[in-house]
Amino acid sequence: MIRGIKNPLIEKSKFLITPEPFENEIFSSWFARCAYAHHTYPKTFWHLHFPLKKFTYNLTPNIDASILEDVLEVLSEKTSFPVKKLKNMTMPSYDGYLQEEIIRNGSNKFLTQYRFCPKCWEEEKIPYLKKEHRIVFYTFCKKHKCYLHDKCPKCNTPINPYKMYNNELKYNFCTKCGFELCKTDVQYIEKNILFESNTQLLEILEKGYINLGKFIIYSFSFFDILAHISKLILLHKKIIIKNSENIFLKNFNSNTFSKTNNSFARISIYEQYLLFGIIINLFESFPKDLKKYMLHNKLSYFDMVQDIKEVPYWYETTINDISPKIIYCARMITDKEIVNAISYLEKRKLIVNQANLTNLLNCNFFSSYNHLKHFLKKLQQ
Ligand SMILES: [Zn+2]
Ligand SMILES: [Zn+2]
Repeated sequence: MIRGIKNPLIEKSKFLITPEPFENEIFSSWFARCAYAHHTYPKTFWHLHFPLKKFTYNLTPNIDASILEDVLEVLSEKTSFPVKKLKNMTMPSYDGYLQEEIIRNGSNKFLTQYRFCPKCWEEEKIPYLKKEHRIVFYTFCKKHKCYLHDKCPKCNTPINPYKMYNNELKYNFCTKCGFELCKTDVQYIEKNILFESNTQLLEILEKGYINLGKFIIYSFSFFDILAHISKLILLHKKIIIKNSENIFLKNFNSNTFSKTNNSFARISIYEQYLLFGIIINLFESFPKDLKKYMLHNKLSYFDMVQDIKEVPYWYETTINDISPKIIYCARMITDKEIVNAISYLEKRKLIVNQANLTNLLNCNFFSSYNHLKHFLKKLQQ
């Protein structure tokens, strides 16, 4: 492959050969194939057409999300493809589905590293990288019902369509050790409830909406809530699912999580699959299971909405019905009323806890400001 050359004439020229994009092929995969067709190393090919002195773009995995319209227009002239066709290969084509607007700088919680299905790559005449596989919810191949992979199984190097092993092997070979990635062991998925809920998750993204009880909800609004619940699970260990601590979630190593970093990226594809399956199940008989999750994990209204930039109406209403939003500082009930409420719960054989008292008295027993939490603790000692 031609590498590291400069030729100002090429900047103004069209591509000599332009491969047709495959179905759902991602931009970077297609661009790498354009470079191969010109016997040129992908990064060199990019800089020949987009010299650094004019374009600040570098060829990194972020380009699938961050490429701007002006670069697409130049590419459109070079390839004779309409801009729309080129844009359709990029992540912003998921605007309004995955997020209201995809964050262009690449630091996007739902975008993930390149993934591939070893079976697809074995079957395809020309293996290519798929656009949907850069979305964190795609943990498995729908066609072959096996997990996707994002690294070389021999040396753990991530997939990278812009590098080439020995300057000759294409992206379907590991860029560090040259392993042919379609020979990766295939791990098939058991057909169970988790598989069903993960399949459902992909359908929500494809349709762009979900029906929950009386609400019809945009998929991106639902995914924001899914991300928040993931955070409650991964970061705050709120892992009581159906009355007991979930064994899978308990085994996740969450010590390495930090609030600022993307939590999804820190767990494996298999763990993501478990996590999403479990969360989708919480919305199965809406809002019953979500209510149980909140009560069992002692989650207040505040816990459920904290850090969400714009709390959607459907979610706000549901959460407020389960654990009402209450003025934090005010304590509007007497000690006697609390004691009475506790004996009321005991008589009805209901658990005396923060959640049930909050529901019964409409005062927030989770808040530290009104001292109800401490008062209850003292009573129970
Ligand atoms: Zn496949
Ligand atoms: Zn390798």
